[in-house]
Amino acid sequence: MHKLRVLVVTFVTLLALATLSAVSLAQRTSVGRDFPVYDNGGKPDLTVDPQRFVAQMEIIDRLFDADSCALAEGVVGASGYRRILRFDTVLINGGDGDLVVGDRSDPNNPYHDWFVFSACHGHYHIRDFSVYELLNTDGSLAAVGHKQGFCFEDSFKYDSGKSHGFFCGYQGITSGWGDWYYKQLVGQWIDITGVPEGDYIVRVTINAAGTFDEGTNRYPNVIETPIHVPSPRKKVAVDNSPALVDN
Ligand SMILES: [Zn+2]
Repeated sequence: MHKLRVLVVTFVTLLALATLSAVSLAQRTSVGRDFPVYDNGGKPDLTVDPQRFVAQMEIIDRLFDADSCALAEGVVGASGYRRILRFDTVLINGGDGDLVVGDRSDPNNPYHDWFVFSACHGHYHIRDFSVYELLNTDGSLAAVGHKQGFCFEDSFKYDSGKSHGFFCGYQGITSGWGDWYYKQLVGQWIDITGVPEGDYIVRVTINAAGTFDEGTNRYPNVIETPIHVPSPRKKVAVDNSPALVDN
């Protein structure tokens, strides 16, 4: 995510400095305390930062051109104005081992078959890593979810220790670190166009296909939060800022 992320991080850092909370950005201490690194036999244990997931959630309208990456990636149902529910996903690695996904070009990479090239992004993703769904309160599906590909790297520090420098070309998440997918990224949402007003549940499932061995897997791979969806006729904020992809 480097170039665009740098812009976003710089902006957020300025805001954070203004409120004297830069420390909380550099190290997500309060959440880190809930997911301390533990003895997991040297394996990673992935979970989602629940605070950021809820705090950044919002419903907006956005215009999608017929040739947009969102259409190509199947993360909106059609072109034109769509109503989307978007949120941040930060993957925390609370296990005592790094998540090492590595380089797709390595013929011995055990995850070779899980990589898929994203033409819009110009790099490889791990396919089907997470599933984003809107559920009715009875648990049935209310809006067609989608599977989001990921490119793993270190963004936030949650526990002690240095980053081992994973990036999109050599993917992974260091033990005690988190990988941030912010809500402005293409696909960091659920298309809720036409969903009637009411109470719903937003669910994110990570490592959905069981691609990675998480050992004892103490920390949850499914996170849910309630949401009230307004009437489709009600106006919400419009965001037609340029599309961002994770690189
Ligand atoms: Zn990407």
